[in-house]
Amino acid sequence: MSARVVCPKIRIEAKVWEKLLAYIQACPQEVGGLGVVEQRLNTLVVTDIFLLEQKVTAATTDLNNGAIARFVADWVRRGRNIGTLRLWWHSHATMSVFWSSTDLATIKDLADGGWLLAIVGNHKGETRARLQLGGEVGVAIDDLPIDVYTTVSEEARSLAMAEVGAKVRTSRTFLGSFREPRHGDEGTVIVADIESGSGLFGEKS
Ligand SMILES: [Zn+2]
Repeated sequence: MSARVVCPKIRIEAKVWEKLLAYIQACPQEVGGLGVVEQRLNTLVVTDIFLLEQKVTAATTDLNNGAIARFVADWVRRGRNIGTLRLWWHSHATMSVFWSSTDLATIKDLADGGWLLAIVGNHKGETRARLQLGGEVGVAIDDLPIDVYTTVSEEARSLAMAEVGAKVRTSRTFLGSFREPRHGDEGTVIVADIESGSGLFGEKS
């Protein structure tokens, strides 16, 4: 049966998405890191991602608690908000994108007491995203769509304005005003196949 699930939209700026895909492609083995997620109304925006120091092998990414603790300590030292480190990403290199039992345990640990956005990717450019809520019930929403968006840089904006000024003549002024549609006014409604509880904690890999 299907159910309707209202959950936040997931958005990521194209340059941050590019950085993530580049890290995944740059490492022949599995690799991982953390990222910053900002909550804007009902939208979760991934604003930056980081590669942590780690030891990788052909089959596992050893993003251990020590590496995460060191990164978090440094983050706090620089006066950054620890509550924004809500993304865990990792690569499956040449394998498909799925959540292994180790992945699910890591996600559950990192979501403890709050929530976590997890993204797994591979060399083929495939990705999969999961929003995990912490706490005893441990609800997760898997296969979330990610909206990759672009913004206009100051350089592009001033170049365009100069060119518009040179080439475009207006014959009359606008009397009305536009209201921009606001992103994140509402959450995204997802029609989901609800799995049994075992999928949350011990999905087959
Ligand atoms: Zn994995």
